[in-house]
Amino acid sequence: MNNDIEKVLYTHEQVNHRLDELASELTAKYHDQQPVIVSVMTGALVFTGEMIERLNFKLTLDYVDVSSYADGTQSGKVQLIQDLSTDIKDRPVIIMEDIVDTGHTLKFLKDLLKGRSAKSIEICALLDKPDRREADVEGDYIGFEVPNEFIVGYGLDYSGLYRNLPFVGVLKRSVYEN
Ligand code: 5GP
Ligand code: MG
Repeated sequence: MNNDIEKVLYTHEQVNHRLDELASELTAKYHDQQPVIVSVMTGALVFTGEMIERLNFKLTLDYVDVSSYADGTQSGKVQLIQDLSTDIKDRPVIIMEDIVDTGHTLKFLKDLLKGRSAKSIEICALLDKPDRREADVEGDYIGFEVPNEFIVGYGLDYSGLYRNLPFVGVLKRSVYEN
């Protein structure tokens, strides 16, 4: 599996250290607010798990699943596959995502949850690829910026694989250009 990696961008230690910092920021703001954590499956599963064990206050954990596809005419069309089971009316919401890329997924989710009268909505993402942004949305808490390359590890996959790599890396082009 590691042979398929072009380079490691952030090691396990670097990610852990950064997650400690993000958790401190979230704790300062949310410790007495009982927020709803909305994890975006499946990419944010690892990040969410690592984050919530650092959040030592009352919170509700829930998740959504979405799919995005480009059909040639419309790029960035997002579909909800699995909805929340929590009522978020008047609750502060923190969306946990693996990466903000074009931003279409998070724009879609933010608009969806806004329509349910959440008290507030913020976005916490492990990674950000600012060069690729198309939708008008930004992360409020970001782990790291990454270049415009194909990233795997820490929950991010290629074709369902590599999510369990304990670092953030760039996949070799030869793996997906065959
Ligand atoms: P969006 O373009 O809507 O911001 O991002 C949609 C989804 O595409 C992300 O949640 C993530 O699952 C996936 N994605 C975007 N960039 C990458 C990447 O470099 N590597 C992987 N594995 N997934 C990505
Ligand atoms: Mg995703």
